[in-house]
Amino acid sequence: MRIYKVGGAVRDRLLGKPVTDIDWVVVGATTEEMLAKGFRPVGADFPVFLHPKSGEEYALARTERKSGRGYGGFTFHASPEVTLEEDLIRRDLTINAMAEDDQQNLTDPYHGQRDLEARLLRHVSPAFAEDPLRVLRVARFAARYATLGFTVAPETLALMRQLSESGELEALTPERSWKEISRALMEDQPQVFVEVLRACGALKVLMPEVDALFGVPQPPAHHPEIDTGAHTLSVLQQAALHKQPLTVRWACLLHDLGKGLTPEEEWPRHIAHEFKGLKLIKAVNERFKVPRDCQELALLVGEYHTHGHRALELKPSTLLELLQSFDIYRRPQRFEEFIAACEMDARGRKGLEERSYPQADYLRGAATAARSVAVQPLLEKGFKGPELGEAIKRERLKALKAYKETESI
Ligand code: ATP
Ligand code: MG
Repeated sequence: MRIYKVGGAVRDRLLGKPVTDIDWVVVGATTEEMLAKGFRPVGADFPVFLHPKSGEEYALARTERKSGRGYGGFTFHASPEVTLEEDLIRRDLTINAMAEDDQQNLTDPYHGQRDLEARLLRHVSPAFAEDPLRVLRVARFAARYATLGFTVAPETLALMRQLSESGELEALTPERSWKEISRALMEDQPQVFVEVLRACGALKVLMPEVDALFGVPQPPAHHPEIDTGAHTLSVLQQAALHKQPLTVRWACLLHDLGKGLTPEEEWPRHIAHEFKGLKLIKAVNERFKVPRDCQELALLVGEYHTHGHRALELKPSTLLELLQSFDIYRRPQRFEEFIAACEMDARGRKGLEERSYPQADYLRGAATAARSVAVQPLLEKGFKGPELGEAIKRERLKALKAYKETESI
């Protein structure tokens, strides 16, 4: 049996990037031989094994053939006769279809190295179109390597467009899609992920609510970039620049969905877009079975981001409602993430990227003031049940009034 490094490990070494996980391919071996060497099988019916010591993935060389819709519709063939070249041709991109032996001899039948130099994400063969997940993967790699100057080859984009228009994307499971989306959002240039999906028509299929924002104008006084889609991309870019976590990035992507629903006669104003957008945010959340913390923050940011921007003008009672909605007493981290998302929203505007955002500290101060109300003295006064709740609220309101007064001096 012969063993090669494949995929990301080879690509990233040639790019001079740190290699985190290594995938291996084994040529000329049978399942029985692998088991005899102590490798542990990963799935019941997939010829992939974990190394007994390193835990790294070793896959038997295989060929694949499409036999139905979606990911389930694949039959594969693994046998000791399958060659390295045959295994490599089933892979997505040429830069991911190189192999290397233990002497660092490169096997590169599909010219991955040439495409690395040309900074091109190019599909290996027409079989690319057999797995719609590849549309998302290519967009994710585009987001990751945009800084290095990579773009999607025009013929690959054309294939991605074909896949998007064929209805195949709808066959993807929420889990597979979310895995790609969440990884892409954590890249350095997550906005490129959205741009590439849009360029090939996949955004319209996967997230029509986001796609609908392009071409929708906003008031130039607040939004020099005007276009709502362009704004959304800038907010996402700011979130990446400021190293925000996934929750915040997801909320940034969805915060303005309501603007896509505004009747054209009302443009460029978007009255009550915050509230109108909630059902769209909920739909996208559910479509991809998004983790709870991401879902929650996206909904809260959608509903309250304008409150964030107007923090300094809010009446104490409105401020209190905001803080209560976030349950800042038990969920301090979530409120911090809300503030971060608002700040990214404010900076994701053309020419305003460096602006200061005094609302952030103001909101933090308000939260501190509300939290400083002690419950013990109220208990001692004999308050119980709902009355205790009301008394706490009254005290918090007082604290916020005092806070607002000192802050406005
Ligand atoms: P990363 O740095 O994100 O791990 P990677 O290229 O190693 O990038 P993996 O998901 O670990 O990506 O997959 C390893 C290799 O398997 C890829 O480089 C590619 O050759 C192949 N591969 C993975 N998923 C697919 C797919 N859906 N279609 C075709 N080839 C794939
Ligand atoms: Mg990998």
